[in-house]
Amino acid sequence: MNSKTISPEMEDAIFRRDRFTCRECGAESPSVYLRADYINNPESFGTDEDNLATFCAECYNQRNGKMIVTPLEMMQARRSQLNQLLAWKHDNNRLSRDQVKSSRTTSTTGCSGTIR
Ligand SMILES: [Zn+2]
Repeated sequence: MNSKTISPEMEDAIFRRDRFTCRECGAESPSVYLRADYINNPESFGTDEDNLATFCAECYNQRNGKMIVTPLEMMQARRSQLNQLLAWKHDNNRLSRDQVKSSRTTSTTGCSGTIR
């Protein structure tokens, strides 16, 4: 088995923790395709969240030499990543609405940005 395999659940957790932003260059989804990757060799440093970070495709390529997906897989992956991003934003909106309810002075940010 490939020890570098990261489960989709784990990847989603890493993206959320890093706010869907590349740790290397600061690019954000959905303008870039994101991958979770190990910061240090998982064989020495373990495979838990502490050793994982979010990287955009470009930074991921630089780290690993090549992208591990085909263009078709990339297209499908981007689409499912968009759903991840929307689910995350949805959760965030719900959280900020709850905060608004508890403190009336906070103004709502509403739905910002359009996603195609
Ligand atoms: Zn990057």
